[in-house]
Amino acid sequence: MQNPDARAVMIDATRLLGQLQSLAGFTSVEPSAEGTAVTRIVFTPDDLRARAWLRKLAVDEGLSVRVDTVGNTFFRWSGAEPDLPAVATGSHIDAIPHAGMYDGTVGVLGGLEAIRALKRSGLSPRRSIELVLLTSEEPTRFGIGCLGSRLISGTLDPEKADTLHGAQRGTEEETLAQVRAAAGFTGPLSSVRLPQGHYHAWVELHIEQGPLLERAGEPIGIVTAIAAPAGYRFTIEGMGGHAGALLMPDRRDALCAAAELILSIEKHTVATGATDSVATVGTCDVYPGAVNSVPSRVTLQLDIRDTDPARREGVMQAVRRDVEAIRTRREVRITESLVNADDPATCSPHIVEVLDEVCRGAGIQPRHMVSRAYHDSLFMARIAPMAMIFIPCRAGVSHRPDEYAAPADISLGARILASALGKLASE
Ligand SMILES: [Zn+2]
Repeated sequence: MQNPDARAVMIDATRLLGQLQSLAGFTSVEPSAEGTAVTRIVFTPDDLRARAWLRKLAVDEGLSVRVDTVGNTFFRWSGAEPDLPAVATGSHIDAIPHAGMYDGTVGVLGGLEAIRALKRSGLSPRRSIELVLLTSEEPTRFGIGCLGSRLISGTLDPEKADTLHGAQRGTEEETLAQVRAAAGFTGPLSSVRLPQGHYHAWVELHIEQGPLLERAGEPIGIVTAIAAPAGYRFTIEGMGGHAGALLMPDRRDALCAAAELILSIEKHTVATGATDSVATVGTCDVYPGAVNSVPSRVTLQLDIRDTDPARREGVMQAVRRDVEAIRTRREVRITESLVNADDPATCSPHIVEVLDEVCRGAGIQPRHMVSRAYHDSLFMARIAPMAMIFIPCRAGVSHRPDEYAAPADISLGARILASALGKLASE
């Protein structure tokens, strides 16, 4: 069979859901009442055990395995013409503290099940089909997201990458070079990069992490563009002192200044009036962090996103004017550093068309949408034509233990993915 349509591809939903559940068991927190809480930080023992488990599943399916020096893992089903650029799918299995069990994992295990389903359908693909496990999509450990895909696409300098170290509060984290070596991934990071055109196509299956599909009662979204995220770090330095002895008029409290800064960010983001403008201060490290000590230093991390990079920059400029005012009035030092500022990605019209066609073949009208969350596909787009498939998640909730995607939607997403991979691999 050359061109399986979505009806011909059968997903083993029971196995796929069982394996999602098994993967959720590789976690460093106990299950909570809110749902299956998953904490799986990259290169921790839980992450390494999960990788080994996944590798065994892939090898059992007869896929070959290549691991690069940052731990990106490539599971390949060789096509009839193995020298042609392959068709690839993939996502991540790392999870932020107290996250859910579907973010990223649906794309990895759904991708594996898609390959199994294509094999069962009797397809012999012209191009090879690859499942890629990408390292550290979440910024939890190294302060920057999509580490693996940034290195693949040449978006992050390999030498600089090796010097990255923890954003984990209160710990002196080791550098990426040390952490990856300890995890068994050695060799120069420069070898991770893949050339433009390495893949014929890249398709990632992911939960929406937003409410639109569920609200509209639509089972499948096809992403046409990914919004542009940026990360900044602010350090506010004031003067510490005894909480009893240092009188209010003499204070230069770094945390009070930080509080003003956070509210300024919120105010200017809301003021754009655009639904695509979003900004979040998600970490706040207070030094010395004692109840009876006036904070002398605070570090904030800001995540700001927009589909329009100029509007995003406009918010930052308004915030910077407030920073000047806070600095003068409170006599504190405020420094801003750019962690990353990425360009938006546009999806491949051809792959979007293939996905549309597969959906229609399955009797589904897909919704075209923008991804406001950030994905490895943003970077994979720099080396390959890219598109994404979204499935609904309950109430749009993600990065929480109560994150949930319905079995029927997961299974349908994997089926659409399988058919699209099959078609693209026959091109
Ligand atoms: Zn994700």
